[in-house]
Amino acid sequence: MNLKKRQHFKKLLLAELRRHAQHIDDEQARALDITNDDVKDSDQALHDVIQGLALKLSDNESKMVADIDQALMRMEEGSYGKCVRCGREIDERRLEALPTARYDAACQAEVEAAKGQRAGPSL
Ligand SMILES: [Zn+2]
Repeated sequence: MNLKKRQHFKKLLLAELRRHAQHIDDEQARALDITNDDVKDSDQALHDVIQGLALKLSDNESKMVADIDQALMRMEEGSYGKCVRCGREIDERRLEALPTARYDAACQAEVEAAKGQRAGPSL
């Protein structure tokens, strides 16, 4: 992958990062708004529920942000755009759609199939 392409995907990753960071701020702000408006100091149970929910939402967002972080780290190492499983170049159309992609399409399918097997037969 040449420098121009790397910079292009880095831009995509940073835009994604900002979007998620914004999302985290919004979730936390919303949770705090609910706490201030609807939950009095006496209603500790509901307060705990909201805090727990806010933490959960942040966790999900944190995972996505961690994926972006790892992609940026791979970019620094020079391994960005290569499948971490087989080392083949990941299709650029795939990276356009999913800049944090770790696997090429073939490995992604195999990894997901293996996950499915571990989880046992569905239904
Ligand atoms: Zn692969």
